[in-house]
Amino acid sequence: MKITFCGAAGTVTGSSHLVEANGLRVLLDCGLFQGSREIDERNRSPFPFDPASLDFVLLSHAHLDHAGLLPRLVHDGFTGRILCTPPTAAIAKLMLADSAHLQVEEAAYRTRKAKRRGEAGTPPLYDMDDVLRTADLFQPIPGYGDLVDLGKGLSCVFHDAGHILGSACIELRTSNGRLLFSGDLGNRHQPIVRDPSTPPHVDVVLVESTYGDRVHRSIEDSIAELRDAIHDVIPGGGNVLVPSFALERAQEVLYELFLLWTRHDLPQCRIYLDSPLATSTTRVFERFPDYFDDEGRKVFSQRPNPFDFPLLHYAQTTDESKQINAQPGGNVIIAGSGMCTGGRILHHLRYNLWNAAAGVVFVGYQAVGTLGRNLVEGTKSVHLFGEEVAVRAKVWTVNGFSSHADQPILMDWIGKAKPRDLFLVHGESASQKALQSKIQSDLGIVPRIPAWKETVTV
Ligand SMILES: [Zn+2]
Repeated sequence: MKITFCGAAGTVTGSSHLVEANGLRVLLDCGLFQGSREIDERNRSPFPFDPASLDFVLLSHAHLDHAGLLPRLVHDGFTGRILCTPPTAAIAKLMLADSAHLQVEEAAYRTRKAKRRGEAGTPPLYDMDDVLRTADLFQPIPGYGDLVDLGKGLSCVFHDAGHILGSACIELRTSNGRLLFSGDLGNRHQPIVRDPSTPPHVDVVLVESTYGDRVHRSIEDSIAELRDAIHDVIPGGGNVLVPSFALERAQEVLYELFLLWTRHDLPQCRIYLDSPLATSTTRVFERFPDYFDDEGRKVFSQRPNPFDFPLLHYAQTTDESKQINAQPGGNVIIAGSGMCTGGRILHHLRYNLWNAAAGVVFVGYQAVGTLGRNLVEGTKSVHLFGEEVAVRAKVWTVNGFSSHADQPILMDWIGKAKPRDLFLVHGESASQKALQSKIQSDLGIVPRIPAWKETVTV
């Protein structure tokens, strides 16, 4: 079995690994590189293989850093099938369409600027045509635990990763042994999704290491912090802004707000989901209750439920979004983007940040250099739409909503898979090194940290 690490090797984004076994070429994930300009440039560098020569893509889940380069793969000649769970297929199509829209917009903006300098513009990484061709290649597998025959004696099984709806760890069974790719491994006790399933015992493991050096705070503490922030702000007449990712986090926040409402533990307020992508994703969640955990299935089997209760309003159009700020305060506004790098959250920040009665609650990771990170770090003013806006609103950082496994969960999972060969992927250097030495001392396995485009034979 030969493995080439085509992305998420020494970084957290661009997840993609080529496995060659039994005469077949299978790509695990085809993710977008995201982050600094230097990292972004990798999205345009040639694939370290011929896309036309691939037989399958096995997709772990719908996040763009795992699926976001698929349209380019198709544009460059891939015509095989993309296997994934049914919710992943449905959500990935939405995410890719949204991504194509942003790619085209950004390329048009850059081209306008380049032309003014007398230079040629750059084409988008991919467009909606590429996404439609990609969507035709999706082939949902029957479900978790089912053996899927890939031909030539190769087969695969998708196991529940417990990360986001439909997420999977992918097991490849070859004539030379078994390989398990973690995809992104979930946290325990997350709302809606199940806990990560127990991994099978295998020969080779590729495991993510995003939080390989950390232990998460409990979700209960985070729900209490979210509740306290709302109780602090709403009675004073301010708005609570919740910058959120459209996929999974927005649905989890709605779920927790609904439970607080059923316990009569929310002040009188209006809750807005102000993100068309989050709303479409929410509609997909409603189609797949079988993928929820026991509590989630019970909560969603009745009405009202987290996606349909009297306080909740969906703002679809730009006008509906603007109208929210024309009202008096007392609104909880969930909007993207999660790190305040774009999207409708920006105009809500402009309307509310200067107001000491307002609040901003961060429920997700804020990368260095983003507006979200600056607010978390206590900046006193920000630039929005060419204006300087003072930051007087209160800012809360709620850390326990993580969708990623922390060190104890990763250790437990690796200990159960008990591989002969272990590769740490999808992590920054510090967390990978911490996890590497912990594994070596506690489990007696020596994990390797592969470099980008490195090939190994196992
Ligand atoms: Zn993910």
